[in-house]
Parts: sequence; C-alpha cells; structure tokens
Amino acid sequence: MTANEDLITWNIRWRLAGGIVSCKTCHSQQPETQRGKVFEHLPGCGYAGQHCTPWDDLDVICQSFKHDK
Ligand SMILES: [Zn+2]
Repeated sequence: MTANEDLITWNIRWRLAGGIVSCKTCHSQQPETQRGKVFEHLPGCGYAGQHCTPWDDLDVICQSFKHDK
C-alpha cells in the first residue's frame, strides 16, 4: 500500500484530536503521553485483544510520506 492508503486506513480505525487517539469503534482513548503502552480497547470492541499501537503506526506512516518525497 502507498503511504496515502495507509493513512486512509489509519483514519478509518482511529481518530486523532488534541494529542489523544481514540478508537472509532469503542471510543476508548490513549493520550500521546501513554504512546509506549498497548492501546486498550473497551470490552466488545472488534479490535479488543489485538496488539494496537496507533501512535507507532502513525509514525511509520509519516516516515513513509517523508520517504516518498
Ligand atoms: Zn476499540
């Protein structure tokens, strides 16, 4: 996938506002200060139990944008 497609996919799953990432499915939140921890979804979320690190994922996407240029 291209960096742009990766970013679109990220935006489908996550919402970023005010330094806080939230899951669009369960609305659980993780501030950037806790970015080193695994994102904890609420029970019943389709992503619960998955190893999610949205901040790291976003970093990787941003890095590939720089790489494209
Ligand atoms: Zn969730």
